[in-house]
Amino acid sequence: MTKRHSVLVVDDDGSVRSLYVDALRESGHAVAVASDGREALDRLQDGAVPCVVLTDVRMPRMDGWELSRAVSNDPQLASVPVVVLTGDKILAFASPALDKPFSPVELDGIVQRACDLHRAGVIERFGDDASDGQA
Ligand SMILES: [Zn+2]
Repeated sequence: MTKRHSVLVVDDDGSVRSLYVDALRESGHAVAVASDGREALDRLQDGAVPCVVLTDVRMPRMDGWELSRAVSNDPQLASVPVVVLTGDKILAFASPALDKPFSPVELDGIVQRACDLHRAGVIERFGDDASDGQA
């Protein structure tokens, strides 16, 4: 039932990043990573635009909120949903704030829902329904 999507995971902590990446790949999604908001924004502006960006809050150079703002201020990227999370909490999903622990299955649900929102926009995504898991 679930569909493959492309996800950019942004976190400066490699072990946290791996948790998300493993869970998302387990669900069949194509995953790319960046270690801070600046690197993420560079990737996005270079055209590697995913269905959804999952980002940590506290990171060097550019934090999750700054990344979220930069994405929504960029006309090319404005329709890309940015989900801000920390540890096992989702701080914000698009605008409404959620604050609850989530499982890998719920993480998949977040991605599915974010991508549905994204489909309203017309942005080229990497990896959607690709035959392998690499991004
Ligand atoms: Zn998608």
